[in-house]
Amino acid sequence: MTASDEIPDEQSQPPEQYHRMRDRVLRPELRKNALAGLLSGLGRLVDIVYPPVCPGCGVTLGSHRGLCARCWAGIRFIERPYCEVLGLPFSRDLGPGILSAEAIAEPPAFDRLRSVAVHAGVARRLVHGLKYRDRTDLATMMAAWMLRAGDGTVEAADAILPVPLHRFRMMSRKFNQSAELARHLARLADKPLLATTLLRVKRTTQQVGLGVAAREDNVRGAFRVAAGRKADVAGKRLVLVDDVYTTGATVSAAVRVLRRAGAADITVLTFARALGNSI
Ligand SMILES: [Zn+2]
Repeated sequence: MTASDEIPDEQSQPPEQYHRMRDRVLRPELRKNALAGLLSGLGRLVDIVYPPVCPGCGVTLGSHRGLCARCWAGIRFIERPYCEVLGLPFSRDLGPGILSAEAIAEPPAFDRLRSVAVHAGVARRLVHGLKYRDRTDLATMMAAWMLRAGDGTVEAADAILPVPLHRFRMMSRKFNQSAELARHLARLADKPLLATTLLRVKRTTQQVGLGVAAREDNVRGAFRVAAGRKADVAGKRLVLVDDVYTTGATVSAAVRVLRRAGAADITVLTFARALGNSI
């Protein structure tokens, strides 16, 4: 981890209790009921005590939530023109439906890959913030951006599912950032969330620092569909959610398992995408 990966220092952030308190106050299922007006008033009261801060740099914001203008400008959003399969941005528009040379030479296991932003700078800090801290507010914002980057695939999906962590890793970290993004995405799009359909059954070492072949070896046999849950997947259009796409070895292992279980269509949707030297 380099200095640029570090999340802003604790002093510039409101205390964790604030996030928990605001999450409780602004819980989406509560928003719908008759207390909504009162609760949103409470939310504003909380903001007076702890004004919203930019999740990218920690600067205090006036009234709006989300990123400050500087962080916003520092995110490289992935927009068309891009390869329809790999979602790789093209430097110029070659017309609709064009595939990258990579997608033709080595068709991936999934049907398409979509990501919000290049994994660098502020986008990278947001991913780290989500991974290492209890930041439900961050997950909500990131999931909203993923819904848009999904380019209609989330709306067309039968279900959303996260790339799971092994339960030992889950115990040590207590938090699966992919599951958190998937949960918020499913709620935003009003789609079923398959939180326990795909299981990680092999403890894998960290992929960071491994070459492509070693990464593939590392994740071989790592996933399976839970007993009795094949019907969740068979014939279904699925969106598989992860926080970052790097070489794709992990996600491809998961996709192959879903495919073998009969999934009809699989979109991989990630928040960030490592491109070239940004891995
Ligand atoms: Zn900022």
